[in-house]
Amino acid sequence: MSAETSAPSTFLPLDEALQRIRAGLSPVEGYQQLALRDALGRVLAEDVLSPIDVPAYTNSAMDGYAVRAADLSADAEATLTVVGTAFAGQPYEGTVEAGGAVRIMTGAMLPAGADTVVMQEDAERDGDALTLRPGHKPGQHVRHAGEDIAAGGTALAAGKRLRPSEIGLLASLGVPEVRVRRRLRVAFFSTGDELRSIGEPLEEGQIYDSNRYTLHGMLTRLGVEQLDMGVIPDRREAVEAAFQQAAAVADVVITSGGVSVGEADYVKETLDSLGEVGFWKIAMKPGKPLAFGRVADAVFFGLPGNPVSAMATFYQVVQPALRHMLGEDEVLPVRLQARCAERLKKRPGRQDFQRGVLRHDETGQLVVASTGAQGSHVLSSMSRANCFIVLPADSGDVEAGGMVEVQPFEGLV
Ligand code: AMP
Ligand code: MG
Repeated sequence: MSAETSAPSTFLPLDEALQRIRAGLSPVEGYQQLALRDALGRVLAEDVLSPIDVPAYTNSAMDGYAVRAADLSADAEATLTVVGTAFAGQPYEGTVEAGGAVRIMTGAMLPAGADTVVMQEDAERDGDALTLRPGHKPGQHVRHAGEDIAAGGTALAAGKRLRPSEIGLLASLGVPEVRVRRRLRVAFFSTGDELRSIGEPLEEGQIYDSNRYTLHGMLTRLGVEQLDMGVIPDRREAVEAAFQQAAAVADVVITSGGVSVGEADYVKETLDSLGEVGFWKIAMKPGKPLAFGRVADAVFFGLPGNPVSAMATFYQVVQPALRHMLGEDEVLPVRLQARCAERLKKRPGRQDFQRGVLRHDETGQLVVASTGAQGSHVLSSMSRANCFIVLPADSGDVEAGGMVEVQPFEGLV
């Protein structure tokens, strides 16, 4: 666990912060055996070996005729005799002899003797007499037993998060249950005397806590167990007690607020006595201050209080770290190139995560526009956005028409 405290003027590049965090974390131990449907969204704890060949038997990829390649000619029509029919689930029991053909449907088992399928569009039939146009490749339109996955081979590797496609794949193998990593337990609370929970009346100078709600949403989508500890006032004993309670029950403790200059000293003292925590200034905007380390046995992330900063830091730093702890193999979201619809303001120095609206233009190209005001307190900019516009640290203003990197918020879920 690295827990260096950056000098006030040194900014830690995001990539380096991610590396340091990753080096200090390992996947949680503990497994769970789950019925297939219940495993959706969970991470495989071990490889799943296929008990069967996929496809289970050699079958046709087309509706057409199963024939012997030796009976076909490269440049002349072939004349064959239809001897039977093979449906999916109702195989043709005989053997296709020289000069014979079997009418076959997609997914039907390829009959013995046949090795090639000719599409029905290339065939003319008159009773049992079949005429096939020339120009077919031997072995075409045939799916071979085990060509997708061989029996005993790895169907899915440990570390894979199970999406609907994986659940379907496992069902196709007849696998009734899988071993997944146990859920991460994450405790979180907000700090700040100005914060009220919804349902409470607001007095002058007070605001509603929104970070616990965005955190709840982001953590729910990650599929972790949550313990929401509410709002903790800016009082030493209260903060200390909250940290102790959180660390006693959770794998990970996440807080928001209280890490900016001034407040940091106060929280730092509390954390110094309980664990080993570094206060970093990450070269990203929004979201500069971040605390990372350990409190007792729990991993600790202290997010900035500004709602957009808290979300941006969560997505860019905490989410990859939690996914690593969940045992997932792919943890970084995709980035795409898009053309900028307008000029973007940017000062060189920090990597920028501006909020953007990504769409296709009339020519099908990806185009991104800014959501407007980019203040780290403007949560509606996150709500209007469907992507981050990721601008490198050394970049200055981006001109309209320039290419930029974007990170879409949503994939298929
Ligand atoms: P801090 O990091 O505690 O200095 O907070 C920075 C800014 O974010 C201040 O304007 C806080 O009022 C605001 N803030 C802190 N925590 C929250 C929260 N949980 N929900 C909404 N705003 C917050
Ligand atoms: Mg505060």
